[in-house]
Amino acid sequence: MRMFVDGNWADSVTGDTTSIFNPATGEVVDSVPMGNREDARSAIDVARDRLQKWSALSPIERSRLLYRVSEAIKSNVEELAQSLTREQGKPLYEARSEVSSFVGCLEYYAGLTGRFRSAQVPFTSGEGYSIVTKKPVGVVGAIVPWNFPVSLLGWKLSPGLAAGNTFVVKPASTTPLTDLKLAEVMTKAGLPAGVLNVVTGPGSVVGEELLENPKVSKIAFTGETETGRRIMGQAALTIKRITLELGGSDPMIVCDDADINLAVEGAAFGRFRNAGQICTSVKRLFLFQDIAGDFIKKFTEMVRRIRVGNGLDPHTTMGPVHSEQQRQEVEHMVEEATGKGAHVLIGGRRPSGAEFDKGHFYEPTLLTDVDYSSRIAREECFGPALPIFVVKDLEEAIERANDSVYGLGSSIWTRNLDRAQYASEMIEAGTTWINSPPISRPEVPFGGFKQSGIGRELGLEGLEHYYETKTTQIYEYIKGKKWRYPEN
Ligand code: NAD
Repeated sequence: MRMFVDGNWADSVTGDTTSIFNPATGEVVDSVPMGNREDARSAIDVARDRLQKWSALSPIERSRLLYRVSEAIKSNVEELAQSLTREQGKPLYEARSEVSSFVGCLEYYAGLTGRFRSAQVPFTSGEGYSIVTKKPVGVVGAIVPWNFPVSLLGWKLSPGLAAGNTFVVKPASTTPLTDLKLAEVMTKAGLPAGVLNVVTGPGSVVGEELLENPKVSKIAFTGETETGRRIMGQAALTIKRITLELGGSDPMIVCDDADINLAVEGAAFGRFRNAGQICTSVKRLFLFQDIAGDFIKKFTEMVRRIRVGNGLDPHTTMGPVHSEQQRQEVEHMVEEATGKGAHVLIGGRRPSGAEFDKGHFYEPTLLTDVDYSSRIAREECFGPALPIFVVKDLEEAIERANDSVYGLGSSIWTRNLDRAQYASEMIEAGTTWINSPPISRPEVPFGGFKQSGIGRELGLEGLEHYYETKTTQIYEYIKGKKWRYPEN
């Protein structure tokens, strides 16, 4: 495929390309241009040029257009999902659900477009009043990771387009294909050319241009905390607005009064969906000691039933890890933990067999007796391995849960709502799920405390980040009034 700029397919000025591989087979799926700073600059110029016209469209026209675009995506779910599985690795049913979630997000914001009233604020002095209105921020640079290339693009595009901004998107280097297809579908459905541009290429080149170019007003970034730290520094040079959705090490607490079967299912879904590569995957499991034995037995049995394989196989329930580097990172964390005395309950190795030879597969892994100084307890493990800890009570669980530089998601499983609400108050995280694995919804804000991010995506709060606030002060004519300077 080629880059998508101003409604057309484009090559890089250098003509260089890079291959995109299927993580399950190692086969080349396609290739894309290796964009550079000049390519990014051209796309930014186009987005800047189209801003005025796009933001001047009436809200109801923008709303209708976004609904039309979402209908077009619905007609292409299968093709987009196949493309996503091929480049990312996730099972097809997860890919379909990801494309559908993009549609849900777009429809939610299409419904909000133009629904806000602006404020009229009277001056306390009685001289007049202000009108407070909202204006689009401008050109947005959207930088997207490889774990959810579609839905995390949707979290940025949907509120951003609804608010009247234009976009230059930089997909992750290994997962640009479905984002490119989406841009094409959306433009064919009526999104004006140049409102949404997609530039492929390395983050350190294309991303840096987005960060430094003064025509870009906002950076919406999802990715690792380390990259986010760098982005925050770079964005400071031109005082860009930023939203950062970064890493997490989410705790899941299972109390002694929880519905154990439900919590076991929640833990399996929460840790092994997308092969554990979700910012809000369950990454540390805390079990009350009275139920720990029963829970661990049932959980191990459930994990044994996970079918690892190629995401295109309809029987697969967990695909490969996205890249070799990612698989080795998980392996190192498991080895380091076992070196410090952890016990592997299940998994802890690559699956064997010809169908696994060429892909980056790793078995779903459960660890007990994990020393809390281990990397898997202290850092983000972005893959299918889970450390399990036994705690004596809720206070210990909360203390451990908060013992992290991250604060993205968290969950508590109990039949006692008082207990759950207390835990939600005490846990330092952007979201606490009660009796549910992590599920994001377009209508509620999502984001991190501590080093898990800045700002919020989704919900009304997410929309706010795509607006500037404009104040117009209006002074009534008062007979005899003067602006005296200097005061005498
Ligand atoms: P990453 O930080 O390596 O890359 C993310 C994006 O940033 C990619 O498009 C990459 O090309 C680009 N990039 C890299 N260096 C850059 C630079 N110097 N300037 C500009 N752009 C640059 O992250 P990843 O490995 O793709 O994604 C996994 C991480 O994302 C995990 O840490 C995960 O927790 C996090 N994540 C967070 C959320 C959230 O909402 N909080 C959601 C999903 C993933």
